[in-house]
Formats: sequence, C-alpha cells, structure tokens
Amino acid sequence: MSDCIFCKIIAGEIPSTKVYEDDKILAFNDINPMAPVHVIFIPKEHICCADKIDETNSHIVAHIFEIIPKVAKDLGIDDGYRVVTNCKEPAGQTVFHLHFHLLGGKVLNTDIS
Ligand code: 5GP
Ligand code: ZN
Repeated sequence: MSDCIFCKIIAGEIPSTKVYEDDKILAFNDINPMAPVHVIFIPKEHICCADKIDETNSHIVAHIFEIIPKVAKDLGIDDGYRVVTNCKEPAGQTVFHLHFHLLGGKVLNTDIS
C-alpha cells in the first residue's frame, strides 16, 4: 500500500534496523522502544490488522511465530519475552499493517491492560 509506513520500510523507502528478513516476513527494531529489546515483526504482504487473518494468510502468521523464538534466542531474551499485537485504534494500533511486537530484556509489567 502506497501510504503505509511499514510497506515503505519493506520497500526500503524508509530506513530501518533489520533484525530478520526472508521472502515472507521482516523484523526490525521499533523506533520508540518500550523495552531493551523491542522488535516489530511484519508480513511482507499488506494485511491491515489481526482481524484480517484468515485461511489465505494465516500461514504467514504461523511463520512469524516460528521465527520469533529464533530471534529471541539470538537477541538473548529467550529466558522470557512478550509478543503483542494491537488490533484497531481502541487497542492502540497506530500503524495499520499487521505487526507483532516482541518485547524483552527486562522484567515486563504484568498489567497488559
Ligand atoms: P502499534 O501502536 O500500531 O501497535 O505499533 C506501531 C509501532 O511502530 C510503534 O511501537 C512505533 O514506535 C513503531 N513505528 C512507527 N513508525 C515507525 C518507523 O518509521 N520505524 C520504526 N522502526 N518503527 C516505527
Ligand atoms: Zn503495509
């Protein structure tokens, strides 16, 4: 999508610090980290949000969740981490390209409401 920040990151039009990339997904450091490790995982296919995950694209989400433990190990947070997705504005979604936050490197606040 032409006006999507994350599609622009995938296209290389906006710089990012890449942590992982393959043909289906990209992971990069969040520009405004909420924890010592804060990585954003995105599908290269533009999917707006979590309620648009369906039988045609869920394999990409599964792939993201297969890669997360490997990246967490590489980044030294495999002792414990959190994976979060915000779906739509009331939940705090600000970028409307499906993404999963990987957070770790500190004791995380257990109040996730
Ligand atoms: P959301 O609030 O939609 O769940 O998460 C969007 C995340 O994307 C935020 O944590 C925000 O800091 C991050 N973000 C927004 N724009 C950019 C950008 O241009 N580069 C990077 N690396 N992260 C971004
Ligand atoms: Zn996009």
